[in-house]
Amino acid sequence: MDENYYDVVIIGAGASGLFCAGVAGKRGLRVLVVEHNRVSGRKILISGGGRCNFTNLYTTNDDFVSGNIHFAKSSLSQYLAQDFLDLVIAHQIKWVEKAKGQLFCQSKAIQIIELLHKECEQGNVEFQYNCKTENIELKDQIFNIKSTNQKFKTNNLVIATGGLSLKEIGASDFGHRIAKQFGHKITELSPALVPLIFNEDLSTMSQLSGISIPVRIMINKKTVEDDLLITKKGMSGPAILKASLYYQENDLLQIDFLPQLDLDFAMSQNSGKTLLQILKENLPNRLIDVFATLFKLNLKTKLGEVSKKEKQYYVNFLKEFQFKPLKTEGYRKAEVTRGGVSCKELNSKTMESKLVKGLYFIGEVVDVTGQLGGYNFQWAWSSAQVCGNSLATQVK
Ligand SMILES: Cc1cc2nc3c(=O)[nH]c(=O)nc-3n(C[C@H](O)[C@H](O)[C@H](O)COP(=O)(O)OP(=O)(O)OC[C@H]3O[C@@H](n4cnc5c(N)ncnc54)[C@H](O)[C@@H]3O)c2cc1C
Repeated sequence: MDENYYDVVIIGAGASGLFCAGVAGKRGLRVLVVEHNRVSGRKILISGGGRCNFTNLYTTNDDFVSGNIHFAKSSLSQYLAQDFLDLVIAHQIKWVEKAKGQLFCQSKAIQIIELLHKECEQGNVEFQYNCKTENIELKDQIFNIKSTNQKFKTNNLVIATGGLSLKEIGASDFGHRIAKQFGHKITELSPALVPLIFNEDLSTMSQLSGISIPVRIMINKKTVEDDLLITKKGMSGPAILKASLYYQENDLLQIDFLPQLDLDFAMSQNSGKTLLQILKENLPNRLIDVFATLFKLNLKTKLGEVSKKEKQYYVNFLKEFQFKPLKTEGYRKAEVTRGGVSCKELNSKTMESKLVKGLYFIGEVVDVTGQLGGYNFQWAWSSAQVCGNSLATQVK
């Protein structure tokens, strides 16, 4: 047997690549994982603030954006959040549910990497680290992979190279390039789950840096509710990261700074009070001061003496605030890449290319992007599982 021949070669030792390797290896296939970093799973390690939000118990297809909104359904239903949780429990990893459905390691994200490595060990998966793939050619149904140190051959090539964020820890556009080489389309790529930068007109808001408040944001017919954090550069926090999944250049975000208050009603019921008194019950003082200067709010007049038009202005400003970001903070700060290998040319049940037999794409490189809260890892596990299963059935 040719020593350099493998049943499956997986490029990328991140979440989806490692998981797929374990699944295929445990089903008896000879699997090689090729990684250009010195170690695997660097994104897992820093995920979820170092504790890895490894899944979300309430994952549904609606928690993802994609050019084909139905594409993820098959994988997600074949491998559930509960399935991954069962694996976490089987590996005796302690976990916590932080927000509703969001499961994190109680201790450290490295436990998830250890879990994935143990699964790979059980499947006798082989690894090549520090291994840069130079080119891939397909001849007589065999993929010939030329890397800096060696050549490998396989009938089954899995691309699991992830998205474009955080180049410094190994992100690359390799998967997109390989997809294009084999005739696949790439949908528009952009950073997502990312902070947004102020336009000049709001730059004075940077003095509010550090303030966090609950808000409701509407963007492109989607609504998100969570905490917004003002930073030196712009806006961040879970509300903004979530909204950024639906944001495209030049879009407006409509922010409700008082989601818990019907301001119109409150003003009509409190004609003896001032706007300042109402706001003080709901917003931090620093924020009120800056808003008052920036947007010329009349804080001190009793609401009974304030004109209807002016009250409408308060409502517009405080409950329907129009925020037009300059741009996002880019791939340097984004948790994920929205867009990727078009789902149109992939089989949703197996993740195999419809154009090239034996070529698979899994995880974030595919045009399926999840919301903040553990959904992106669940997509990595689910897409990897269906791919691994399909490989095992086809190769045997
Ligand atoms: C700061 C941060 C926090 C996050 N937190 C969470 C979270 O808590 N929950 C959640 O669900 N998601 C989270 N995510 C998103 C999540 O990490 C990714 O969606 C997930 O890791 C994608 O898995 P993947 O296997 O597709 O890609 P990755 O895990 O990124 O793995 C890709 C691998 O391919 C390797 N690679 C790339 N190019 C090449 C090449 N040319 N040759 C060889 N190897 C290559 C990379 O080095 C990497 O090891 C977070 C992301 C970031 C950046």
